[in-house]
Amino acid sequence: MNLLTPGVAAAATDLVRRDAVPAYVYDLDHLDAHTADLCARVRAAGAAAGLRLEVLHAVKANPDPAVLATAARHVDGLEVASGGELAHVRRHVPGVELAFGGPGKTDAELAAAVAAGVARYHVESLTELRRLDAAARVAGTVATVLLRVNIPGSSVPGAALTMGGAPSPFGMDPAEADACAAALAALPGVRITGVHAHLASGLDPRACAAQGDAVLGWALDFARRHRMRLAEVNVGGGMAVDYHRPQRRFDWAEYGRLLAGHALTRLDGAAAPVLRIEPGRAVSAYSGWYVTRVLELKRSHGEWFAICLGGTHHLRTPAAKGHDQPLAVLSTDGWDRPWARPDTGADATVTFVGQLCTPKDVLARRIRAGRVRAGDIVVFALAGAYAYNISHRDFLLHPAPGVVHLGLRPGRRAAPATPSGSC
Ligand SMILES: *Cc1c(COP(=O)(O)O)cnc(C)c1O
Repeated sequence: MNLLTPGVAAAATDLVRRDAVPAYVYDLDHLDAHTADLCARVRAAGAAAGLRLEVLHAVKANPDPAVLATAARHVDGLEVASGGELAHVRRHVPGVELAFGGPGKTDAELAAAVAAGVARYHVESLTELRRLDAAARVAGTVATVLLRVNIPGSSVPGAALTMGGAPSPFGMDPAEADACAAALAALPGVRITGVHAHLASGLDPRACAAQGDAVLGWALDFARRHRMRLAEVNVGGGMAVDYHRPQRRFDWAEYGRLLAGHALTRLDGAAAPVLRIEPGRAVSAYSGWYVTRVLELKRSHGEWFAICLGGTHHLRTPAAKGHDQPLAVLSTDGWDRPWARPDTGADATVTFVGQLCTPKDVLARRIRAGRVRAGDIVVFALAGAYAYNISHRDFLLHPAPGVVHLGLRPGRRAAPATPSGSC
C-alpha cells in the first residue's frame, strides 16, 4: 500500500509546480471512507453482542472544518474540549450532537454550552458539577452529566500518553465521584447518567478494550453503590496510530468484538448502558498530508540533510512525539530548473529538516529515501491529526501553509450511507 493516494500525489505535484507549498492536503473521500468503515465495524461488533456501541470524534485532533464535517457524517457526535471548539463546531457543523469535556471549563464556557444545547457534559470535579448546576438552573434546564473518573490501577503499560490511573489533572478520584453522587439531591440543574474515562493514548485493540473493561467495571460498581441507573459509559479514545509502521491500521472490528465481550461478561444479564468511544487521531491522521519541497540539499560531516520549506512549526507531530514522520519523495527529474541541482545519488540516507534555526526542527531522521535532489517534492503522511493545529506557527514568522481539500465538499455531498446517530 502506498503512503499517498493518487489524488494526493497529483495534488502535491501541482502544488509544487505552482510554488504553492508548503501546504496541507486533506483527502476528504479517503476520510469519508475510513470513518464510515470504522463506525460500521464498531457498531456491528456491538450489534452482534446485542449492545449499542456509539462513536464520538474528539475535535481536538484536527479542527479543520471540512475534516470535521466529513467525520460528522458518520459518527454519533463530536467531543469538544473548550468554548472555542464549541463555537467553531456550532458554526461549521451545525446540528451535530456534542459532548463537552476538558479539565478546565470556565463559567462562561459552561453557560455558552448550556445555551448551545450540548447533549452531555464530561464533568471533571465536584466544583465543576456545582458550577454546571448553576449555569443550567439559570437557563432553566437540566444538564446531562457523565462523571470523568480517574480510575485507580488503570495505568496502561506501553501507552504513548497516560492520562489516568496515576496522579493526574484529568478527571476526579473515585472518592470525589462518590461526593458528586451524594451532592446530587441539592443540584437540580444536573443529572448523572453515567461515567466517562479517557485514560491513555496509543493503545492497540487488546489494551484499549482492557481499558474499556476496567472503566465499565468501575462504572457498574459506582452505579450499584449509589443505586443509580447506569445509562451510558464513555470509555474514551486513544486508539493507536503507528507512525513507525504507517501501513498498519487499528483493528476496529477486533476492538469492538473484545470490548463487547468484556461488557457481556461484566453485565452478566443486567441492563446494558450505551457504550461510547471517542477516538481522535485514529479517525483523521491517515487522511492528511503535509506537502513541501527540498529547498537546499546539504552534506554535513558526511551526512545528507534535506532542508525543506516549512518545518515543525507547521508539522510539530514528529517533534512532539519523537518519531520520524513517514514520507515519500517525488522526483522532479526532468523539470526545468535554472540552477544546478545537488543530488544525493542512489540509496542515500537523508535527514529531513525544516527552515527553523533550531536543531529540534527535524521531521524525519536518517531515512533511506532513495535518490533526493534539491527541488524534489516531499510529502509527509499521517499528518491529519495533532499536526498543524498543535504547531507553534508564529515561530520565525514564516508564511502559513496552504490548506487544500480533495474530494467531497460540504454542499456537494451525497446523502450519508447511514443516517447519522443510527447504528
Ligand atoms: C484527546 C482526547 C481524546 C482523543 O484521544 P486520541 O488519542 O486522539 O484518540 C478523547 N477523549 C478525551 C477526553 C481526550 O482528551
